[in-house]
Amino acid sequence: MSTALELTRDLISRASVSPTDAGCQPLMAARLEAVGFEVENLRFGPVDNFWAKHGRERPVFCFAGHTDVVPSGPTDDWRTDPFTPVIAGGMLYGRGAADMKSGLAAMVMATEQFVRSHPDHRGTIAYLITSDEEGPSVDGTRRVVEVLRDRHEAIDWCLVGEPSSEKVLGDTIKIGRRGSLSGRLTVHGVQGHIAYPQFADNPVHALAPALAELTSMTWDQGNEHFQPTTFQISNISAGTGAPNVIPGELKARFNLRFSTEQSVERLQATVEAVLTKHRVKHTLEWFVSGLPFLTAPGGALSNAACRAVREQLGLDPNLSTGGGTSDGRFIAPMGAQVIELGVVNDTIHKVNECVRVADIERLAQVYFRTLELLLAS
Ligand SMILES: [Zn+2]
Repeated sequence: MSTALELTRDLISRASVSPTDAGCQPLMAARLEAVGFEVENLRFGPVDNFWAKHGRERPVFCFAGHTDVVPSGPTDDWRTDPFTPVIAGGMLYGRGAADMKSGLAAMVMATEQFVRSHPDHRGTIAYLITSDEEGPSVDGTRRVVEVLRDRHEAIDWCLVGEPSSEKVLGDTIKIGRRGSLSGRLTVHGVQGHIAYPQFADNPVHALAPALAELTSMTWDQGNEHFQPTTFQISNISAGTGAPNVIPGELKARFNLRFSTEQSVERLQATVEAVLTKHRVKHTLEWFVSGLPFLTAPGGALSNAACRAVREQLGLDPNLSTGGGTSDGRFIAPMGAQVIELGVVNDTIHKVNECVRVADIERLAQVYFRTLELLLAS
């Protein structure tokens, strides 16, 4: 049986750029089958997923995560090859080292150790693993959750092994995420000669005051668990390329990260009201990429994880809902308590991504203790 470090290295050396799995999941599945798991492969489109279970009863504890990684970018920018795991100065380098192959390895190690020491544990240990978390996230966790819902399979507690820690391992556990709502806006004007603005209608000028209002307004104050809602423009374009032409159209894309103080309908109505007030002729398409969710502190899962961190790492984790979305957004609506607990995230998606070598084994011990607290009979 190899160590969590060796398994992390094996996973990094498989270049699983989203949505490719590149053999990561078979590696995990073989280890789980060897300790008695039933593994079911669920491939949708180009995406590999698996669902695995040990036990048949509730409560169901599920480890969730992804084998895919973001592209490395130009490899010349890296000090080492992104898909060759290299240890230097106590750190393991490679794409996915932190996000989240060390997390996957820690889960597998913790599970092997737990199933061996508690062969008759109560409840079920499950795995929901996808190769499409970093991509469009359509054929990944979302689809697997649909399958599980159709079969009336439950998840009571879900631990997502995403890199949640900020400065040191275990300092932060995510207990929810903000929602994410995107808009694709087209402002319709009338193209014309720049010297004859009276015969044109400039969509840039039409949008500017509305944009000033949208970007400066206070949407809400947030609440005990969530930061205030924010509005950000990600792209804006207009113009024909010629310096003497008023453009006939403007396209903009924006995103709102929102707290549980808001609803999608209310956000949409507010944006529409501001555009209408400033008489912006427009069409607007909306995309909801995730609703906010919260696993209120005090539940069995967050209590067990906090206690495991305290015992194994000697610190009191901060419970947070900050940061981007994760696949927890698809699992929480099943009625599951969902938390994210993993390694330090300061290098994720960057060049020279790395993880502290010692943290991989320590994370495995935190996961092991969490399993003990919840499922030891
Ligand atoms: Zn991730």
